[in-house]
Amino acid sequence: MGRITLDKVQKKFGEVEVIPPLDLTIEDGEFVVFVGPSGCGKSTLLRLIAGLEDVSGGEIRIDGKPATDLPPAKRGLAMVFQSYALYPHMSVRKNIAFPMKMAGMDQAEQDRRIAKAAEALNLTDYLDRRPGQLSGGQRQRVAIGRAIVREPAAFLFDEPLSNLDAALRVGMRMEISELHSTLKTTMVYVTHDQVEAMTMADKIVVLRAGNIEQVGSPLELYKAPRNTFVAGFIGSPK
Ligand code: ADP
Ligand code: MG
Repeated sequence: MGRITLDKVQKKFGEVEVIPPLDLTIEDGEFVVFVGPSGCGKSTLLRLIAGLEDVSGGEIRIDGKPATDLPPAKRGLAMVFQSYALYPHMSVRKNIAFPMKMAGMDQAEQDRRIAKAAEALNLTDYLDRRPGQLSGGQRQRVAIGRAIVREPAAFLFDEPLSNLDAALRVGMRMEISELHSTLKTTMVYVTHDQVEAMTMADKIVVLRAGNIEQVGSPLELYKAPRNTFVAGFIGSPK
């Protein structure tokens, strides 16, 4: 399960309306990418879904249930932060276990989930290392592992690869796509990188100044961009 619906969701910071009321449906199992230039409201929209920001208006539903007023921990979603959000003094195992420990999960279940996540992410041999002893790509996988163990209804990624060099980024993109095929869990992925959007998404949401300019598959957007902004951003010959 992992269907997320936004109904006239709006966000103001003081008097400034960063997200005008917008509607959006993210289907269960979909890989949805929010793309748009810096400052267009991608992170804000993701943080509203996560519950890290309160909406100024509108309703959010997760699997049909009202979630607008739920705190982040009660939404059943997992936000994947950039790899620098790892605890440097803790082992990989402890970093991954952290959210389960916080939730008071019993040790046997924690161990089962750590083993499963480590296998899915090729981290089995690295569980006793600290983040400083890992490559950038491995650190990013630990950050994803910490999300996987919560078995969320959806993963929320905010530019998770922006700290990595170009070569690593290509590899990690493929790894995240593969993870999506394996887990079949909804993923909402924020990027300002058109290539990332076009290669990873089932559905792309193009944002401009908080407005949804167009929603569609990469091919739909490429073939039939609604306006010159979308065409220019996606790189269509229009
Ligand atoms: P993006 O992730 O697309 O780069 P953001 O969602 O971070 O964009 O920001 C969208 C707009 O909202 C920007 O103009 C930014 O300055 C503003 N903004 C974001 N967070 C805050 C905040 N906590 N207080 C005031 N303005 C904010
Ligand atoms: Mg951002």
